Amino acid sequence: MSTTKGSKDVIRPVSAVVSGRAAVNVVEPGDFAVEGDLSNYEAMVRRQLELLGEDPARDGLLKTPSRVAKAMMWLTRGYNQTAAEVIGDALFQESHENMVMVRDIEMYSMCEHHMLPFFGKVHVAYIPNGKIVGLSKLPRVVDVFARRLQVQERLGEQIADALEETLQPKGVGVVIEAVHLCMMMRGVEKQSSRTITSSMRGLFRDDSKTRSEFLRLAHSPTAY
Ligand SMILES: [Zn+2]
Repeated sequence: MSTTKGSKDVIRPVSAVVSGRAAVNVVEPGDFAVEGDLSNYEAMVRRQLELLGEDPARDGLLKTPSRVAKAMMWLTRGYNQTAAEVIGDALFQESHENMVMVRDIEMYSMCEHHMLPFFGKVHVAYIPNGKIVGLSKLPRVVDVFARRLQVQERLGEQIADALEETLQPKGVGVVIEAVHLCMMMRGVEKQSSRTITSSMRGLFRDDSKTRSEFLRLAHSPTAY
């Protein structure tokens, strides 16, 4: 529901956006291979351990800087990806004119204010306008933007913008339901509150029937 525009991030390579990021290669899918020089990051984690009152030389922490550096590169690998890249050539001409929806996409991200995880479900829908996208690509587009430092509001906007740009559909809807560890573990310590955001484009914004069909499907109990 916010009007923030994130579309510039969609096609710009990350090197142009985040110049300080180590030149690492995060290998997908599935395995956690991270290649590249992470020595600066490791030194920073060692210092962080000291500042927390820890002894980075004790046994249990010896490999922690290296583990943390690799984990952080993996958790923020979206900086190295664009939606256009992950969609690739999985676009198909198709005259289907009804809503296409993938719901309950698992999402893990990190808030940019505390660098703590927030996670939950993303529901993505669009109405084609001559083009459809391979269904498995929608969760991958979610990941491109989730695997960066984020705020939930912008995450939804960026997913919606990316789908609008690549598919030029009649409309796009994105609903995110998430819990934020920065709320649960610190500050207000609200363990059970969920944050729900929605980003609507085209018919999902302008046509109340389309919007309510989407929201009904997003929030109805799963059939299986
Ligand atoms: Zn936070």
